[in-house]
Amino acid sequence: MAPVQVKKICCIGAGYVGGPTCAVIALKCPHIQVTIVDLNKARVDAWNSPDFAVPIYEPGLVDVVKQCRGRNLFFSTDVDKAILEADLIFVSVNTPTKKSGVGAGFAADLNYVESATRRIAAVATSSKIVVEKSTVPCRTAESMRTILEANSRPGTRFDILSNPEFLAEGTAIADLFKPDRVLIGSLQTTEGKEACRALADVYANWVPQERILTVGLWSSELSKLAANAMLAQRISSINALSAICEATGANIDEVSHAVGFDSRIGPKFLRASVGFGGSCFQKDILNLVYLSESLHLPQVAAYWRQVVEMNEYQKSRFSKTVVDTLFNTITGKHIAVLGFAFKADTGDTRESAAISLIRDFLSERAFVTIYDPQVSEEQIWQDLSEACPTTPLETIKKQVTIVHSALEACTQKEAIIIATEWKEFLEIDWQTVYANMNRFQGEGHWAWRARVKTVLRHSLSSDIDLNFNI
Ligand code: NAD
Repeated sequence: MAPVQVKKICCIGAGYVGGPTCAVIALKCPHIQVTIVDLNKARVDAWNSPDFAVPIYEPGLVDVVKQCRGRNLFFSTDVDKAILEADLIFVSVNTPTKKSGVGAGFAADLNYVESATRRIAAVATSSKIVVEKSTVPCRTAESMRTILEANSRPGTRFDILSNPEFLAEGTAIADLFKPDRVLIGSLQTTEGKEACRALADVYANWVPQERILTVGLWSSELSKLAANAMLAQRISSINALSAICEATGANIDEVSHAVGFDSRIGPKFLRASVGFGGSCFQKDILNLVYLSESLHLPQVAAYWRQVVEMNEYQKSRFSKTVVDTLFNTITGKHIAVLGFAFKADTGDTRESAAISLIRDFLSERAFVTIYDPQVSEEQIWQDLSEACPTTPLETIKKQVTIVHSALEACTQKEAIIIATEWKEFLEIDWQTVYANMNRFQGEGHWAWRARVKTVLRHSLSSDIDLNFNI
């Protein structure tokens, strides 16, 4: 069998993963033509917009697209043409958690993966390497292979690889330029190893050999779920400890610092917060829970489920802290929420902790003012409508105001919450913010100061200097 040389790549799915990943491949491999396709025309149009108003906010992304769009990087809605021409196809479609049906709330919805795979099978007239880029349950490659082989034309073969993506939103371009590792899983057959080598050769254009790990297909699929589960578990562990700190008077920042100093543990992912968000952590753990249950491993399922439950508990515990601190009721009170994205340096709001908090505040009839430097008003209204399905948007709009600066958000509020660690929040003139906040009638200076700080301290504010006089 002649060694495969990848010349044309198609990526199905122009989202947070497919877009940046394949744009970086195009940048680093000018000899390869990369076409990223999506059924969502508005998204493709944004990728192609003359002023580079790409659909995803990600530091450094526009620069990459500017360098290669039209050279060897193309965005298109013509999925079939890109499949036909490519010798390697990434499947980078969404794999959300099922919201209804069998296994609802736990199983991954593989509808998009199946559709993309069926399209490849229907269209391809020559052999292809098909790469799972999406995060999928263990052994999904087997179903993909069955679909592809049942539909393949004589003389065409499909080799399936797993190449899960480990980028983090907000640092995607830096992560892709210098990945901790690139993981490629393949069947341990001659053809599987050959396909694996072809993909490894693509990455070898910029990733050092020792960082390209090649493993079996199922190990690769499972490693992605495992990595996200371990990261989320650290957050839930430190958040669980924060509850003990609050009850005992210990300081969670000091505890985290001391624990993280242990070289076996390390300091990363060890900051207490209002809980993790994002489209991946919860979904991937629930995926692991579902897998464990299907394999009749109830204790293992319970262990991982607890990580998600702890996260839910942390969010509601924080909402309760806000209510408690504002004299056990927030009805008619004014709360500023700084940040709406699930983390800094992204406009992505999927599963953002801010949404849960605001939903709680609205249910207690508080007035909420939101500021986020990247999330559009349209997105905020859409997310709040989905979070409060029984409340008409017009009613939500009577309680929520969206503003365009942090200072504006904080003016005349009884509480301020930092829900996203945007760097600009560290640079706010807090003296001015405090001066413009509301004090309750008769509330003494020290009581007011303690109250404001309690709420701030319990949100993501441990980097903010709260020690100047107010
Ligand atoms: P996304 O929703 O941003 O993008 C997926 C895109 O696929 C959408 O634009 C959708 O229109 C398109 N699509 C769906 N079916 C299609 C089809 N049949 N043909 C053409 N286009 C189709 O999702 P994402 O955040 O990019 O995530 C993609 C996968 O990568 C998921 O499995 C996710 O778990 C995984 N992942 C995500 C991240 C992250 O930080 N977002 C990180 C690592 C892995």
